[in-house]
Amino acid sequence: MLLIDGKKTSEEIKSEIAARVAEIKVEGGKIPHLAAILVGSDGASQTYVGAKVKSCEQVGFQSTLVRLEESVSEDELLKVVEEINKNPEIDGLIVQLPLPKHISVEKVTNKIKPEKDVDGFTPANVGRMTLGWPAYVAATPYGIVELLKRYNVETSGKHCVVIGRSHIVGSPMSILMARNEYPGNCTVTLTHSRTQNLAEITKTADILIVAIGKPEFVTADMVKEGATVIDVGIHRVEDSSKKSGFRLIGDVKFDEVAAKASAITPVPGGVGPMTIASLLYNTLLAAEGKVYAK
Ligand code: NAP
Repeated sequence: MLLIDGKKTSEEIKSEIAARVAEIKVEGGKIPHLAAILVGSDGASQTYVGAKVKSCEQVGFQSTLVRLEESVSEDELLKVVEEINKNPEIDGLIVQLPLPKHISVEKVTNKIKPEKDVDGFTPANVGRMTLGWPAYVAATPYGIVELLKRYNVETSGKHCVVIGRSHIVGSPMSILMARNEYPGNCTVTLTHSRTQNLAEITKTADILIVAIGKPEFVTADMVKEGATVIDVGIHRVEDSSKKSGFRLIGDVKFDEVAAKASAITPVPGGVGPMTIASLLYNTLLAAEGKVYAK
């Protein structure tokens, strides 16, 4: 069984990005600059944004964190987005989700200039990705594609089953795996909560990508012998043996599925670290004008 190590791969990608930043400095070019907007004080969101900002420092990017009160109005938030859209110093902008209920995620996402949308959430970038045009691809699916590539997982002609159809993971993943390029060229089945006989379908998957958001949902009896299994889920469960008081588990019951799979991502250390590496890579592309011609 091959352990697909996202932590190691993400460190390699970050080193490659840092090397490029060092070259840019020598060339006297513009240092990539990522801005993040955080609304409110949700613990998980603060952790995620903090990790993104720290990773920017690690690779030599500039970063700006804009913190707004939970009570900020939609109009005020839209104005902040617009200011960053217009700021030539900033190459990439992310708005940490979730947003408070009184703010429309769609409106805010749609306000982000596609050229700075390094999360790949705007309709422009989703459309471009779907058409196979240069695009900022959402960080989590992009990270998975990169893992498949760097671990030379054969995808052409394979049956890829995706569990979950969220806009940020499952849906773009299904599009990417069906593309006429590597990794891709799969026959893709996208499953969701209305899917009938899910286990019968997952058992036919050569590549199983799980983004269902239910702890250890996928068990060995749902997986074909020799499948490649990508676990996107992240859940905290209490564990008094840990200093932190919790441990992380995925959407896949790791030990029993690993015994059957030919390759699998662990949680933690699988897809999670790749998400940040992809965001940094998209920001580098933005700074260098590689997706939208400047
Ligand atoms: P989500 O928006 O909650 O979507 C879950 C999907 O699973 C939905 O499409 C839902 O179907 C489907 N589903 C629910 N119950 C099902 C069932 N019994 N059978 C088949 N499908 C079912 O989740 P998400 O945002 O994609 O995230 C999924 C997991 O990945 C979460 O644990 C999240 O924390 C994690 N995540 C990790 C990263 C990372 O960086 N590693 C990034 C993003 C998310 P319906 O559409 O019909 O409701």
